[in-house]
Amino acid sequence: PSSFEPLAEVVGAGQQVPLADGSEVAYANLDYAASAPALNAVADAVTASLHQYASVHRGAGHLSQVTTGRYEQCRETVRHFVRGRADDIVVFTRNTTDAINLAAHCTPGDVVVLDIEHHANLLPWVSRDSGTARIVTARPGIEDTLVALEGELAAAPAALLAVTAASNVTGEVLPIGRIAAIAHRHGARILVDAAQLVAHRPVSMASHGIDYLVFSGHKIYAPFGAGVLIGRTDWLDAADPYLAGGGASAQVSVVDGADENCAATAWHTGAARHEAGSPNVLGAIAIAAACEAITEIGFEAIGLHEHELRCRLDDGLARIDGVEELRIFDDITDRVGIAGFGVDGIAPRAVAEYLSAEHGIGVRDGKFCAHPILTRLGHPDGAVRASFGLGTGAADIDRLIDALAQLISTSPGGNPT
Ligand code: PMP
Repeated sequence: PSSFEPLAEVVGAGQQVPLADGSEVAYANLDYAASAPALNAVADAVTASLHQYASVHRGAGHLSQVTTGRYEQCRETVRHFVRGRADDIVVFTRNTTDAINLAAHCTPGDVVVLDIEHHANLLPWVSRDSGTARIVTARPGIEDTLVALEGELAAAPAALLAVTAASNVTGEVLPIGRIAAIAHRHGARILVDAAQLVAHRPVSMASHGIDYLVFSGHKIYAPFGAGVLIGRTDWLDAADPYLAGGGASAQVSVVDGADENCAATAWHTGAARHEAGSPNVLGAIAIAAACEAITEIGFEAIGLHEHELRCRLDDGLARIDGVEELRIFDDITDRVGIAGFGVDGIAPRAVAEYLSAEHGIGVRDGKFCAHPILTRLGHPDGAVRASFGLGTGAADIDRLIDALAQLISTSPGGNPT
């Protein structure tokens, strides 16, 4: 397919949505960074597994064994997708937020984070009892930011540096391999929040030296409900179970005569230790199917497609007076398909509502769960964010640009392109 067309088929593409005047138009979904639509290939894999599944791990029946095998195989697919090491653990979680909370629960000591993070990679660290979170303010240049990170790690030891791989506000891609090297130089491990990266760029935990990586299924073209934490086993095996319950426990006995109805428990090690309760097998199958579908499309084709759309979006926004894209770093050129922007004199919510009601375009407005960086970039009341992916074509970008130009030319004091 031409790179101007969507690169892959997504569920629900082209569906009609109502406009304010009562007419209907094909939906332009420009909110992939929040949740990407499921790929048809992923929906097919989930539907197929619905026809043949049963409880995992403890069932003796044939279907239980098949489903258990499939669930465990999903870990391998995910580990291979991000080029994890052979002994890295893959824990299925509810989403990225849950995966980082699990990592925070298991991390022994202080953590260093940047102030550009999504709250999911900030709040689990600042709300821990078992260590402090030292927050480094990002500088306008990534080079200076790396120097600041290095200074913080050199000043006092930290167990972990937790950093995003791509900003959910600007799409800027951070040099993760270099950041990992800095962490390791100072005896710290690194956790990478790859929620906004893994659908767009190849990641190699092994060659980038990433100790822990987290992401969500719903941002990589799988449905909601499952995410992953991949990484080194020792801290996870040493920590108390994240969730206590069946599946995490190897042996439980009630202690006779104990004061408080006390049970003595021997916990499993490995992924089972932190996955008590019946797991989200379909979620894991969906994530694995998404990893396979993305691999089949190929990161080269994905990169070309998204680069084309990225240039079109940036050029279009730059041509409209009164629209300004947000940037954190002035020296990062690599960006995934996310553009955060402000419109002069018009509240972000009003822009987003206009795009939806008058043009059938879905974008996000607000502070994107990243209040500190939005405030520091001069947008304490939020901004607008357009984001795209495999189901996006050039026509979607053009519709956004035309609609914004129209909005500005028709608003009081507006300035046509
Ligand atoms: N990190 C980043 C960079 C994100 O963009 C998001 C989602 N907006 C999250 C973490 C949290 O993901 P989830 O809501 O799936 O837990």
